[in-house]
Amino acid sequence: MIGNIHDTPDFKLPEIRNEEPPAGKDPWRCEECGSKDVQQRAWVDINDEENISYDDSGRDDYYCHHCDEHNYLVLESELMKKIEEWWKQTDFETMEVITGLVQDDFDPADGYQAFVDACEGKWNSLGVEEKIHIWHESTRDKSNDD
Ligand SMILES: [Zn+2]
Repeated sequence: MIGNIHDTPDFKLPEIRNEEPPAGKDPWRCEECGSKDVQQRAWVDINDEENISYDDSGRDDYYCHHCDEHNYLVLESELMKKIEEWWKQTDFETMEVITGLVQDDFDPADGYQAFVDACEGKWNSLGVEEKIHIWHESTRDKSNDD
């Protein structure tokens, strides 16, 4: 492991925080699009700049640069749970679009279990950013139908 520039014994995280974002490991993301380019409104003690308190009274206190909107933020781990749930309930048509596999190419036994398994394999080989991108693209199209 290569040490972070802040990994010195003197460095301390600000104490006053409503919630401690675990730096790097489980980043905050936009609930709507999954972007990490997000902000939370905060107060900084002008005489002690390490003393920061975060506002969290509502959606207005959060902002996503990618959406250019005030959206709630979620931890990446929570968002990925939601995305995995979404993936589990996608229909075969959506699975074909996402994986590039064709249902008819597979053995129809057990409700096309072979197709499902192949799609599962493809999905599991994707990284976090790819999954978020696919989820966002797929779910965004649906909401535009309104
Ligand atoms: Zn966003």
